Amino acid sequence: MTETKTDKFTLINELARRRGFFWQAYEIYGGTAGFVTYGPLGTRLKQNIEKKLRDLFVNKLGIIEIESSIITPGKVFEASGHVGHFKEPMVECSKCNKRFRADHLLEEYARISAAEAEKMSLLEIKEAIKKNAITCPDCGGSFNEPQQFLTMFVTTIGPYSGATGYGRPEAAQGIFVEFNRLYTIARERLPFGVLQIGHALRNEISPRQGLIRLREFTIADLEFFFDPEEPNCHLLKDVENDILPILTAEKRLKGSEEILNITVKDALKQKLISSEWQAFFMAIAKKLLIDLGVPSNKQRFIEKLPWEKAHYSTQSFDQEVLVDRWGWIEVSGHAYRTDYDLKNHMEASGVDLRVYKEYAKPIEEEQLVVKPIMAKLGPVFKAESAKVAELLASVPAEEVMAALEKNGFYQIQNYKILPEHVSISRQKTIVRGKRFIPHVVEPSFGCDRLFYVALEYAYHAKDDRVILRFPRSISPIQVGVYPLVSKDGLVEKAEAVYKLLVMEGFSAEFDDTGSIGRRYARADEAGIQLGITIDYDTLNDDTVTVRDRDSWQQVRASIKDLPELLRRYFMGKINFHELGTLIQNK
Ligand code: AMP
Repeated sequence: MTETKTDKFTLINELARRRGFFWQAYEIYGGTAGFVTYGPLGTRLKQNIEKKLRDLFVNKLGIIEIESSIITPGKVFEASGHVGHFKEPMVECSKCNKRFRADHLLEEYARISAAEAEKMSLLEIKEAIKKNAITCPDCGGSFNEPQQFLTMFVTTIGPYSGATGYGRPEAAQGIFVEFNRLYTIARERLPFGVLQIGHALRNEISPRQGLIRLREFTIADLEFFFDPEEPNCHLLKDVENDILPILTAEKRLKGSEEILNITVKDALKQKLISSEWQAFFMAIAKKLLIDLGVPSNKQRFIEKLPWEKAHYSTQSFDQEVLVDRWGWIEVSGHAYRTDYDLKNHMEASGVDLRVYKEYAKPIEEEQLVVKPIMAKLGPVFKAESAKVAELLASVPAEEVMAALEKNGFYQIQNYKILPEHVSISRQKTIVRGKRFIPHVVEPSFGCDRLFYVALEYAYHAKDDRVILRFPRSISPIQVGVYPLVSKDGLVEKAEAVYKLLVMEGFSAEFDDTGSIGRRYARADEAGIQLGITIDYDTLNDDTVTVRDRDSWQQVRASIKDLPELLRRYFMGKINFHELGTLIQNK
C-alpha cells in the first residue's frame, strides 16, 4: 500500500484535478477530508454510471425507484439497530489529540488482517496496540483508551434539542419505512424490488483513500422483497451458467485466499449462496462491473465472516475489485437481510408491515376453544366473574388446558380456575390465508467506488500521453467536434455539425483551439469516445472524419448518416468500422 509517484491512484487523482473529474471539496479553506466535488467531466461520468444502474434495474428488471430524505428521525435508526451497531473502534493520541480507526492502525502497523481486527474487542485492541508498540503515526505520542465511535452524523430536527436526527448511512431504511405504500404501488405482489440512489453520510474517523472512503457518498441500495416460502428466482435461467469468482468464508477461516470459479447454478446447489435472488443479483453485479470496464478476473465475491457481517444480515458477500494502490476494494455489498428490518420497524412503530397471502385452497384448521361457564363462575367470583371471563379470553387456550391437565387448576392473576368453571372444545374454522413479513436480499453499490474503478480501468498510457478508454456507454462525452483549421468556413460548418449532434441528443464538445493533434490528445485524456473532424473535403461532399479514441483509427462518414449511425454505435449495435469507410491513420 505504499505510495509511489507513478501508482495509478496518484496519477488518477492528479488527472482528475487537472481535467475536472473531481477534487477535494472546500479547497480554498484547506480542503476537508472525506468530501469531494465532482467537476464537469466527473459529473457526467457519474451520471452515466448511475444511468447504467437505472437502466439495468429499473428499465430491464422492472424495479421501482424512490427518492427519500437524507435526514432521518432518530427512532428509525434506533429500530434498525444502527444506533447500537454503526460504530467503529477509535483511538486518540494523548499528545496531539489526533484520532484514528484502531482496526486500520492494527492492519497497517501490526499486520493484523482486517478480518481479525474487526473481531477484536476494545480490550483486545488496547493490548494489541501495546504489544506492537503502536504510537501515533503523526507525532509518535501514545494512545488513550480505545472507544467505539458512532459513525452516523447526528443533528437535531428543528429547534428542539430532544428531536435527534441522523444523516442516513444507507438509503435502505428510507425504503423499509415506506414498505406498505410501496407494496400497494407494486400491486400487492411479491417479489418486487425498490431502488434508491442518493447521498449517504458516514462520519468516517480518518478517511485517507480519496473516492474510496468518503464521508458523503452516493449509494445505490436495492431492497428486493420476496416470500420466504417461495424463494425461487424466476429469472435464474438468465444467469445460471455465469461464473462467480467466490472466496468462501470456509476458505477464509482456513487462511486461504483461493477463489472458486463456480457457476451460479452450482454455487446454489452446493449451498455456497443461501438465496437464489442473492445469487442472481451477484451475477448481475458482476456483469455490471464488466460493463464498467473491470474484467472478470479482476473481480471477486468474498463471503463475510460471522463477525464481519452487518448486524442485519445472515449471509453477506462483498463484491471486490483489484485496484493498483489498495489491493482488493469493496464496490458492492450483497446481504440477505431476511425479515430483520421490517420486523423491527413493525415492532417499534406499531404498524403492521406484514403482507397477506391467500392460500391456493382454503385450509380447515382445528382450534382449541376455552369458554367460561358463567353459571359456575358467578357463585365463586361474584361481581368479578365478568373480569375473570375477559382474562380467560386473553390467554391462549392451549395454556389453560395444559395447566388444568397438569395441576388440576389454572391460575390467572388472583383467580384460581378449576376444570368445572370452563368448557373446552375443538372447533373447526376455515382459514383462507395468512399474514407474514417478506424477506429481503439487498445489493448495495457505492457509486463513487464504481466511478473510481471505472476510471482506473480506463486509464492507459500510450506514446507518453493518457487515454481514458471508457466503455462507450459511460464515456463522459460521446463526441468531440473539431474544425481542422479556423478559417475558410470550417468553423461555421463544424458548429453546424456540433449543433446537429446536440439536437439529436448526443453529448458533444466543440473545440477549435490549438492544433488538431493537441485537441485529439486533450480529448483522449478526457475520455471523449469519438472525434469528428471537419476539413476541406467536408465542404465539397458533406463527409467528416470520425476518429476512434482507443485505436486512433479513422473512418470517413457522411454527415446525414451520422446521427443514426452514432445512435446505433453508442447502443453497442455496430462497431467503429461500421460508421464509415476506413481511411489511413493520421
Ligand atoms: P455497506 O453498507 O457498508 O456494505 O456499503 C455499501 C457500499 O457503499 C459499499 O460496497 C461501498 O461501495 C460503498 N461505501 C461504503 N462506505 C463508503 C465510504 N465511506 N465511501 C465511499 N463508498 C462507501
